[in-house]
Amino acid sequence: MKMLLTIDRDACAGAGTCMAMNPALFQVEDGTGVVLQTVLDGEEAIQAAIDVAECCPTEAVLVAPEES
Ligand code: SF4
Repeated sequence: MKMLLTIDRDACAGAGTCMAMNPALFQVEDGTGVVLQTVLDGEEAIQAAIDVAECCPTEAVLVAPEES
């Protein structure tokens, strides 16, 4: 199963919770969170992204099924 990881740049407040929780997947550049990996493959990577999404204060981290 694959999922897509994105950040809603308009919603992001840039506080960096995502990067603090998982620097392998997230960075903050110019005050906005960015993802370092867009396609998540495997349960562990998907769960790690969901954990961050649940902690993002503005719900800007999005984990959605990959459309084929
Ligand atoms: S935790 Fe959410 S609001 Fe904060 S930088 Fe990351 S995506 Fe943006």
